[in-house]
Amino acid sequence: MRILFSASEVYPFSKTGGLADIASFLPKSIKQLGHDIKVITPLYKSVSIDFHKVTYLGTSNILMGPLEKSVNFLSYNHEGLEFIFVQNQEYFERDNLYGYDDDHLRFLLFSYATLEVLRHISFMPDIIHLNDWQTGMVPYLLDEHYRYKIDGYEYLHTLFTIHNLEYQGSFEASHYHYFNTDFNYTYIHFERINYLKAALERATMLNTVSPNYKNETLTQTYGFSLDGALSKRANDYVGILNGIDEDVFNPQKDPFIYKNYSRFNYLKGKKENKVHLLKKYGFSNEAYDKPVISYIGRLANQKGIGILSQILEELIFYSDAIIFLLGSGQKEYEDYFIGLSHKYPNRVACYIGYNEQEAHQIYASSDLFVMPSYFEPCGLGQMISMKYATLPIVRETGGLYDTVKPYNKYTKEGNGFTFSRYDAFDLKDKIFEALNLYYSNYTDFKRMMRQALASDFSIKTMALSYEKLYEKILRGR
Ligand code: ADP
Repeated sequence: MRILFSASEVYPFSKTGGLADIASFLPKSIKQLGHDIKVITPLYKSVSIDFHKVTYLGTSNILMGPLEKSVNFLSYNHEGLEFIFVQNQEYFERDNLYGYDDDHLRFLLFSYATLEVLRHISFMPDIIHLNDWQTGMVPYLLDEHYRYKIDGYEYLHTLFTIHNLEYQGSFEASHYHYFNTDFNYTYIHFERINYLKAALERATMLNTVSPNYKNETLTQTYGFSLDGALSKRANDYVGILNGIDEDVFNPQKDPFIYKNYSRFNYLKGKKENKVHLLKKYGFSNEAYDKPVISYIGRLANQKGIGILSQILEELIFYSDAIIFLLGSGQKEYEDYFIGLSHKYPNRVACYIGYNEQEAHQIYASSDLFVMPSYFEPCGLGQMISMKYATLPIVRETGGLYDTVKPYNKYTKEGNGFTFSRYDAFDLKDKIFEALNLYYSNYTDFKRMMRQALASDFSIKTMALSYEKLYEKILRGR
């Protein structure tokens, strides 16, 4: 099969969250299954590539209502995969990926570019695989401007993957004239343009990143007002669990961590990493034997930081755990974490910002990893932590429910700790239960670490599910 994979962020070129990871792992493993796949993504200012190795593919002048913008297509080979960068200095070469007043134009241009590039290369995909609202207008633009209007586009199918339903690309209705079509209700949701809704209406098939989140998105609580639009497409909508690249997140060969370790020497390996990390952050010797509990992720309400921040001081008073916080996002949470680390310098370390190496070191050095999300389409942090023999403490929602099996003290099954209500008290209880096991029954704790290490979150399993879905689309669903 031939696939064009379109994503607004792709690791290692650009990343704000899990989408970038999947946009890198999935095409790589689809290619390993023998398919012809190319990835298209914007050329942001932060993208660092060797421009001597770039091949120029062509330029398109794209009309968006009264505006005319030109984009260059640049081909770049990375680890055997072809990436096509969309270059437009004005729109993409900025400090951040998202959050600008003209995001509706920036990602409309990217959506046009995803279709335009096919006029410059001798590659007509069977399926364009789209991801999140930034690519949401592609199916609409395809229907309105390309299919049956330009040769080759007739049989193009689209798969739209929802990585997060909260972010929808919602803009003023008056912007519709940039689409070069008459007003149309396809993209209208509550009197505003909604790029995600346009994709739900027009994509050939839809999926999200875990089976449980798929079911949740069809409810009012987690549907973010699009549960109705999704229910209409229920027969064309599936959940496929994300995987993680075990080449990248592998303590045995991770170049970012201080000491590599395997399932045979994980206790010793984790201890050496822990001591190294604690020293680096200025902790004294006494800290080296204490359990380390960490949080890594965006500091957003979605992630349950609200309930986490309510209980951290109690955790500090009533346990001797060391707490590591790595993340960036909402200012009030950043300030809170910085304040906490100043108030309890020998108990809390915090790093505000985005740092891949630091993240790997913390995953490797921690005993427990907390992820109390309010909602979580799949979540990668809990899977990564397990691969580093760090036990996750998660709320039973979305993909967290699908990936973390709770500790059962009778059968000894489980690879982490889970709680169900979105409630600070329940989170606190679960953390203390985990700490209690750490202190009073380390045999069981170690057994869980081994079970966590053995969990299968391979990208191969994920890729095989997508392959089946692609085949289903080509068979006419
Ligand atoms: P989301 O996509 O909602 O942000 P996920 O759990 O799916 O959450 O993916 C988050 C990814 O980003 C994980 O790989 C995690 O380790 C990484 N990450 C999040 N915040 C940071 C940070 N501040 N520094 C380094 N890596 C981070």
